Amino acid sequence: TLILAIESSCDETAASVVKNGRTILSNVISSQIALHTLYGGVVPEIASRKHIEKINQVIEQALTEAGVTLDDLDAIGVTYGPGLVGALLVGVAEAKAIAYAKKLPLVGVHHIEGHVSANYIEHPDLEPPFLCLIVSGGHTHLVIVKDYGEFEILGRTHDDAAGEAFDKVARAIGLGYPGGPKVDKLSKEGNPNAIEFPRAKIEGCPYDFSFSGVKSAVLNYLNHAQMTGEEINRADIAASFQNAVVDVLVEHTMAAAKDFGMKKIAIAGGVASNGTLRDAMETACRKYGYSFFRPSPIFCTDNAAMIGVAAYYEYMKGTRSGWDLNAVPNLKLGER
Ligand code: ATP
Ligand code: MG
Ligand code: FE
Repeated sequence: TLILAIESSCDETAASVVKNGRTILSNVISSQIALHTLYGGVVPEIASRKHIEKINQVIEQALTEAGVTLDDLDAIGVTYGPGLVGALLVGVAEAKAIAYAKKLPLVGVHHIEGHVSANYIEHPDLEPPFLCLIVSGGHTHLVIVKDYGEFEILGRTHDDAAGEAFDKVARAIGLGYPGGPKVDKLSKEGNPNAIEFPRAKIEGCPYDFSFSGVKSAVLNYLNHAQMTGEEINRADIAASFQNAVVDVLVEHTMAAAKDFGMKKIAIAGGVASNGTLRDAMETACRKYGYSFFRPSPIFCTDNAAMIGVAAYYEYMKGTRSGWDLNAVPNLKLGER
């Protein structure tokens, strides 16, 4: 089964050809990061326009690299939510056009189901059920993946997503957009125990998260230093902030694994490419005897290969989208 997958939910225009759900024949990503850096964040209007410009050539390249033509395909998969509405619409319209012209089934994919499915690419042995920590720019969820595309949500963030916290802290210490990778890099030169930032717990919700407190603590620290004229060490701030976030992510994941008797643990989403999180999760899993799964960094951040994998499992279950498939900007996990 050959699937062409398209992803355009945010600022990456991406296309991929996936064979039998687990083999990636091509994975083309055209990032707009350089463009949005000028504005300090993603400008939705500009993102949509850039997707329009790039999408055909990205798809062309994905087919060429895979050594296939549109006639070889069995289905078209596309992200239809959540994300920026104008950005999503470009991919959805494109996928519909190809599917209609080539008389192929169309499969709308949930972007976060895609992030989780990235784990199947390099772990042929991984099958549900397993526990997955989803940490991206807009989501922080702790879920049990009960079956392909079936989730039981154990915990979620009450305010900022983990990636959002990285981006805001990066901006506050002058690292700019995109923040996560820059905090990750700078933290390597800092002391993770230099500053004690808060690790938020939510009364009665042991698997939930809150990151607005640690973000405010960083801002307060900066304001205080500015008022007193104290010198700040940005690497220490980055490392200490990251340490506080990673501590909570790992601790809650381990608690859920124990309480629900899960022996397989995976991570997903852009923040899953964070070096400190990957190392800490691996160490904790080894300590408690769990198997640990994580996508390579290139499959953690937005890409179409993960959408192709998710589309395959939906396709096999019989999921089909109609010609009325629309972009759903705030699509919730587990909804269709
Ligand atoms: P969502 O998937 O929730 O719709 P998104 O698609 O914008 O949101 P992703 O592309 O999955 O998010 O991830 C981007 C986020 O991951 C950004 O917030 C970015 O700062 C963060 N991120 C990327 N790399 C790293 C890293 N090495 N360390 C920490 N955070 C990172
Ligand atoms: Mg992005
Ligand atoms: Fe994403």
